[in-house]
Amino acid sequence: MTGRFNLAELTRPDLKGLVPYDPHIVPGVIKLDANENPFDFPRKVKEYICAGLQSELFTRYPDPLARDLLAGLSDYNGVSSNCIMAGNGSDEIILNLMLAFGTGREVVIASPTFSMYRIHAQVAGAGWREVPRRDNFEPDIPALLDAAANPGVSMIFICSPNNPTGNATSREEIRKLLENTRALVVLDEAYLEFGGESAVPLLSSYPNLIILKTFSKAFGLAGLRVGYLLARPDVVGELLRIKQPYNLNAFSQFAAGAVLKHRDLLRDQVEAIKAGRDKLFRIMAGLEGVEVFPTDANFILFRTPVEAEKIFKGLLREGVLIRNVSCPGLEKCMRVTVGTEEENGKFLEKLKAVLNVY
Ligand SMILES: *Cc1c(COP(=O)(O)O)cnc(C)c1O
Repeated sequence: MTGRFNLAELTRPDLKGLVPYDPHIVPGVIKLDANENPFDFPRKVKEYICAGLQSELFTRYPDPLARDLLAGLSDYNGVSSNCIMAGNGSDEIILNLMLAFGTGREVVIASPTFSMYRIHAQVAGAGWREVPRRDNFEPDIPALLDAAANPGVSMIFICSPNNPTGNATSREEIRKLLENTRALVVLDEAYLEFGGESAVPLLSSYPNLIILKTFSKAFGLAGLRVGYLLARPDVVGELLRIKQPYNLNAFSQFAAGAVLKHRDLLRDQVEAIKAGRDKLFRIMAGLEGVEVFPTDANFILFRTPVEAEKIFKGLLREGVLIRNVSCPGLEKCMRVTVGTEEENGKFLEKLKAVLNVY
């Protein structure tokens, strides 16, 4: 041996500050922290999936291109299969985007937003620049274009409806970005089934548009990790070169296809979530000291006069888990996922009790 093993010397210095994503797992609470679908997975779809579990699904490697699933997605989104790539959740696709286009370059992020864009940029060795949204949380298009004018910038990340602020960005605003930059524009539509205007119709006109979608929110499959991307075939081709061949397992491919086949059942759940959201919003807006922000998603951003961590902990003691999203620009803000009617009622009852203490 020429030297002593020292792990710290071998660790990438640019990853030293990276803190792992904290999923906040707390058993036995009302879980309104992760924007999941709160309803039971439809029994009919579960039975269809179980009945279709053939032996080859277990013994053979999955289709690297997930062709059966892509056929369903092509029909659902109205784009051809060669414009789609499926992934192990959109999280994996974000990492693949960073590996394909970000490493050694820079990405621009409309903040505050989903933390995984920054985390995966760092993991892939891409630089990142956060461009603050305006006071109403709309992305600042001129400032984004300005930041992206730097020749080292390869991608602009925008989430619509945005997590955690809830607001959606219009197709026309997205068009302004697409027309005035040479960078790829990655539009994350994870919550689009709950509101806002999809940019899918722009795909045929703009070769630099990439849209991310997921089965984790409206479609109730967060546990099976299925996301996908829509883009021009040449962009998809670049990603296919770097993705792991068997990134999406056979069971998840099959289950996601089954969900698409039965999407009318999921649509009923989405409608119930939207009605629950609007009711929860109205009641929260009437609570003294609570400021609620308009939302197009399945969650509500709100602010109280008290430090967010105190409200968060107070609610947790009462058995309700939400998310503390306070940060510069979102001082004293929290995010609550719309649950079932009963869960929303519990949350409101406990929120009132906690606010009473302060
Ligand atoms: C939840 C969420 C996703 C979904 O991630 P998956 O990996 O598909 O579960 C993607 N983008 C945003 C903004 C989200 O909030």
